[in-house]
Amino acid sequence: MSASLERRLRGFGVTSPQARERLVVRLREAGIRDERVLDAMRQIPRHVFMDEALEVRAYDDTALPIGHGQTISQPYIVARMTEALLRGGVPRKVLEIGTGSGYQTAVLAALVPQVFSIERISALQGRARERLRLLGLGNVRFLHGDGSKGWPSQAPFDAIVVTAAPPELPRPLLDQLAEGGRLVAPVGPQGGMQRLMRVSRIQGELRSELLDPVSFVPLISGEIE
Ligand code: SAH
Repeated sequence: MSASLERRLRGFGVTSPQARERLVVRLREAGIRDERVLDAMRQIPRHVFMDEALEVRAYDDTALPIGHGQTISQPYIVARMTEALLRGGVPRKVLEIGTGSGYQTAVLAALVPQVFSIERISALQGRARERLRLLGLGNVRFLHGDGSKGWPSQAPFDAIVVTAAPPELPRPLLDQLAEGGRLVAPVGPQGGMQRLMRVSRIQGELRSELLDPVSFVPLISGEIE
């Protein structure tokens, strides 16, 4: 790796490791308690997951545009969802719906053995794949397609995370959840009240809990770009 690429990945000035550390402090103050999650967020350089013009805001706790009408999720929400996925033990196989920038994918890849990530916009998927390769995260498989169908040939999954909001939970995703597994997803109408939901499969039964109110881009079923 060239010295300049190494310097860009590590970050400097407003994208430096110190900037990541300040974000971690804010996340802790906001109630994130899982040290494994905080460590992963300290380790993954969020600035690498956005256009260079927006890098100065990479360590603000806010969602930012990534093109194609999509956004990179707010760090607090990434931390919250990851914490909810790890609760009950580190899942071995995780399915992510909505790769987007690949930031949540990278945080997961730093924490669990295997990540499977589906994205419907091929241009975003291509960029995310390249970023994970640059960071040396080799434990991720990507699929271009409609994530509301899940990834049947790889099922079941110990955990499923959805990073775009469906009006209600897609049945195939619940069906692809392993015994003891959990799914975390924002659910609700576009532009309306969405809630983060955590559903777990315990002795065959699905149990759900409501977490934070959130605002995500919609999960779009069917067509592929
Ligand atoms: N975790 C991502 C969030 C990206 S926004 C990040 O932090 O960057 C949500 C993403 O879900 C968008 O990239 C959008 O294209 C994708 N998406 C929406 N509906 C989808 C579907 N049915 N299948 C797969 N991806 C979908």
